Amino acid sequence: MSWFKRTVKGIQTPTEMKREAPDGLWYQCPNCKKAMHTREHKNNAYTCIHCNYHEKIGSEAYFTILFDEGKFTELDANLRSGDPLHFVDTKPYPDRIRSTEKKSGLKDAARSAYGKMSDINIVITCMDFGFIGGSMGSVVGEKIARAIEYALKNKVPFLMISRSGGARMMEAGFSLMQMAKTSARLAQLAEAGIPYVSLLTDPTTGGVTASYAMLGDFNISEPQALIGFAGPRVIKETIGKELPKGFQTAEFILEHGFLDFIVDRKDLKDKLASLLKMLA
Ligand SMILES: [Zn+2]
Repeated sequence: MSWFKRTVKGIQTPTEMKREAPDGLWYQCPNCKKAMHTREHKNNAYTCIHCNYHEKIGSEAYFTILFDEGKFTELDANLRSGDPLHFVDTKPYPDRIRSTEKKSGLKDAARSAYGKMSDINIVITCMDFGFIGGSMGSVVGEKIARAIEYALKNKVPFLMISRSGGARMMEAGFSLMQMAKTSARLAQLAEAGIPYVSLLTDPTTGGVTASYAMLGDFNISEPQALIGFAGPRVIKETIGKELPKGFQTAEFILEHGFLDFIVDRKDLKDKLASLLKMLA
């Protein structure tokens, strides 16, 4: 039975000879647990073909979905965070940045780019939740401020895609200053009459909700996204009451007048393009 038992030790099978199903061929929806081809899922703008669950995606995927032929030019790609407070939690902040860079392939929690979307020139900044919870530190704020400056200079609309847990605790006060900085820049954009659309995705919370994410000429959201400032537990303990059903979902926020509309990611590009054409 030596066919089935490896009697000779040290026989190695080179990787290219191994017959295994390639990794990531199937995607399992975390909501309905049904499976689909990853390609099918990708072609569906990373939404479930069965239940329409919107998978959490980052800047690379949004840029590919929105920019014509996936072509764009990135702005300020190499901005990196300093360590102004010499912050240490379980590890020093610079070490956390380095390990997150390695793990995520990103340099911080937002990327900016310009290009054409359905033939309309546009600047987009998109947050990446994979980088320390999409937290807003000085790099995120500075990238947004510079993207708005680019939009101002070139008179093109600005789209902000938020997905964030809020301010970055490791930069404390410096993170909070980004709220004022980005808000001031957006005021300049408004004064110049250049459209700003804010897309809130799952989740958008804390200082991000309290600044640029809610300052759009249009504040729009993906279905079922969690949108809020403080978490539900904190609010419940503060007001001492049960929270209503669907509290902090995009649908609830829309019903209470804080959103202009909810858009399915598959229709996002078309809806944005027709909206911007109306505003032009
Ligand atoms: Zn599903």
